[in-house]
Amino acid sequence: MTTTRHKLFTPGPTPIPEQVMHLMNESIIHHRGHEFSRIFSRVSQDLKYLFQTEYDVLTLTTSGTGGMEAVVANLLCRSDRVLTVNAGKFGARWADICRAYGVDFIEIEKQWGHAVHPDEIVDYLKQYPKIKAVFLTHNETSTGVTIDLKSISEAIHANSDALVVVDCISAIGGIPLKMDAWNLDVVITASQKGLMLPPGLAFVALNDRGWKAAAKSDLPKFYLSLKAARDSLKKDSTPFTPATTIIRGLEAALSMIKEKTLERLWFEHQVFGDAVRAAIRALGLSLLSRQPSNALTAVIVPEQLSCKAIISGLEQNFGIIVSGGQGHLKDKIFRIGHIGFYDISDIIGIISALEIVLKSSGWQFEIGAGICSAQQILQQLSVRKQS
Ligand code: PMP
Repeated sequence: MTTTRHKLFTPGPTPIPEQVMHLMNESIIHHRGHEFSRIFSRVSQDLKYLFQTEYDVLTLTTSGTGGMEAVVANLLCRSDRVLTVNAGKFGARWADICRAYGVDFIEIEKQWGHAVHPDEIVDYLKQYPKIKAVFLTHNETSTGVTIDLKSISEAIHANSDALVVVDCISAIGGIPLKMDAWNLDVVITASQKGLMLPPGLAFVALNDRGWKAAAKSDLPKFYLSLKAARDSLKKDSTPFTPATTIIRGLEAALSMIKEKTLERLWFEHQVFGDAVRAAIRALGLSLLSRQPSNALTAVIVPEQLSCKAIISGLEQNFGIIVSGGQGHLKDKIFRIGHIGFYDISDIIGIISALEIVLKSSGWQFEIGAGICSAQQILQQLSVRKQS
């Protein structure tokens, strides 16, 4: 038996708070009973706060990709052409789903680590004026890049009738998102990141423009029918058996988020992101991202070091799990997740462990340099709490 506690620092799944675990441990409830209806009604209201929307937020029992697929299948017609942005693995997934449904797509390809600029999207929209929707990734988890979603949405609406569809799976709860104020037509997220829950739920919200497009959609759908989910939601229910246990946990997770407030969460994640980035630079390492994310930090591994050895050193010595690179970035980067249920001591802990592993790998730096840089930034949080 190992005595080391496992600590997830992956950009999903993320750690689960005890009060959430506690609720999920209670005995199973029936999804057609009063207790479930009460919980489902409450979480559906609280999800509106999370999305910053007045529109219905639908809860689907599927992973995040299921939410993305539901949006393609419910929003589009066979004859539509859409624009997707591939700046990483998850942006590329939009094109993969469109391909599977036979939807014509134009894909903007960006070097991984870079962010799409509003002007680039506008150029495409001018070149292809019939684009029905633009599919975006708010936070590209494979590269640690956050796009300027507000400006991109403004630019799309100012230059076209295209719907703005956003995968906010690794952003919500950590990175500012305002569905209605930013005029986002469709927003998707999932349970296992900023929501501090196990994987298994996806959440989708459409505004009036989104529902108008959905009413005309002729692509096949059954389990993932958003109309069926919306009809059931009116009765505080779901069309099929939902993941009742995770939905119970969701009630506690959303209460925690509301109690803390989104503004405070966004601020904390900004501080964590700044602190981890400062530490990485102080250790003489560089970031992959040109527009870095407060949800995770992607670190480039110098040629003289082994990515695998860093990742396994963290796990074997400290029980810390970080993620490697995906696709062509495998063995070239590692990713530290800091979206979700983290606090100052977690951030200090991961930086300290990383310093020890790097030192033992022969990397040259002054021990404590990363911690020192991180602490100077992390102080902002305790100072604010005392005022
Ligand atoms: N989009 C983004 C931005 C993600 O981070 C992920 C999960 N890492 C997905 C989509 C896919 O979600 P899932 O694995 O839950 O299907």
